[in-house]
Amino acid sequence: MFKKILIANRGEIALRIQRACREMGIKAVMVYSEADREAKYIKLADEAVCIGPAASAQSYLNMPAIISAAEVTDAEAIHPGYGFLSENADFAERVERSGFKFIGPSPDSIRVMGDKVSAKQTMLKAGVPCVPGSEGVLPDDPVIVKRIAKQIGYPVIVKAAGGGGGRGMRVVHTEAALINAVQTTKAEAAAAFGNPEVYLEKFLQNPRHVEIQIMADQYKNAVWLGERDCSMQRRHQKVIEEAPAPGIPRKLIERIGERCVAAVKKLGYRGAGTFEFLFENGEFYFIEMNTRLQVEHPVTEWITGVDIVRTQIMVAAGERLPFAQRDIQIKGHAIECRINAEDPYKFIPSPGRITNWHTPGGPGVRVDSHIYANYFVPPNYDSMIGKIIVYGDTRAQALARMSTALSETVVEGINTNIALHRELMIDAKFVDGGTNIHYLEDWLAKRNR
Ligand code: ADP
Repeated sequence: MFKKILIANRGEIALRIQRACREMGIKAVMVYSEADREAKYIKLADEAVCIGPAASAQSYLNMPAIISAAEVTDAEAIHPGYGFLSENADFAERVERSGFKFIGPSPDSIRVMGDKVSAKQTMLKAGVPCVPGSEGVLPDDPVIVKRIAKQIGYPVIVKAAGGGGGRGMRVVHTEAALINAVQTTKAEAAAAFGNPEVYLEKFLQNPRHVEIQIMADQYKNAVWLGERDCSMQRRHQKVIEEAPAPGIPRKLIERIGERCVAAVKKLGYRGAGTFEFLFENGEFYFIEMNTRLQVEHPVTEWITGVDIVRTQIMVAAGERLPFAQRDIQIKGHAIECRINAEDPYKFIPSPGRITNWHTPGGPGVRVDSHIYANYFVPPNYDSMIGKIIVYGDTRAQALARMSTALSETVVEGINTNIALHRELMIDAKFVDGGTNIHYLEDWLAKRNR
């Protein structure tokens, strides 16, 4: 096993990985930007190295600085967390070329899945059902583009091959708007992702977002760890996640889970990964694969009893998966609320000094957060300051526990979206379960009227 790991991330996920290292008797090296210098998890670390100024481009995305930090501290492996460099194949390659283990899949796997067009093509070949759409990247000829869209049938969605984080997507309802939408998305994609390529997909009207967590070692052992429902989204970004997905027959989920495992084995994929699907009228349609740890991993940890971060570290060190598919039993229900530093209804970011911080507790409550009283939320990064995760024997119990947990939580000095979560936990449709990906946006639009 590794003796020392460098954690190339910040905030709650850096702390989550640090905790896993502690438990496993591994030393953790934290890297930090000047904006994060005072954070408690930096002070708690075995070692910490400043890698640059606040701007991510010069710190958490600064590959040479991160690799030199691993060199000077004599770390053996690098955990990239999520976001930042976690899905950057060039980074994974540089890490390995510099003699460190990258805690994640091979650079090749990241590269294939990082391009949504090649990911879809790979999945189709591996027998995973995809959203109907263009066969590959759209050609320049507008006549052909119109013909492809017509074949798919409106509405369609133009998506950037290199897109991510809910950006680089545009819905088109009529042929008249198509070419303009394709051009705009291409220009945006070139600027944002350095890749102008776009493709078309059928725009599904009322789907749910259901994803399958998988875990694999380098010996082609792979298992799926149940599903998560992440349909509660705003601007294609997840707000609430839960597991299992309410109301979907187990047989359907099992069939898709097995397909994912078969694909993973066929690809020779190693590490943690997530297959994201849209689910509509009893069918699953693959949209993309995330080749990293996800924000919402704790809900899966709770219903399966598997520590995903620990398992990531084990398989990166060359160990075998410590469990087989038959060992994975889904038990109970887990829900996660992402706590963001933002206005709960206008969503204006709210960085600044947290003057008072009190976290909830009690049976079935987990808080993953790096926050404490007097912490300063820097304006430079994502607005998520932590996650509240609850477990219940039933979904009803989980909902009740989340409401209680949210009511106990105190955050003063900045705005958070806790008030929004409290309303949603008692919303009749959400309580019924099975809301689709448009539900939250529609709900917010009605509320603001
Ligand atoms: P990203 O990589 O930016 O997260 P995804 O491809 O995972 O992009 O899509 C993010 C979200 O966008 C999905 O969860 C869903 O809400 C919406 N979406 C993507 N593709 C479609 C589609 N074909 N039809 C309807 N909604 C879609």
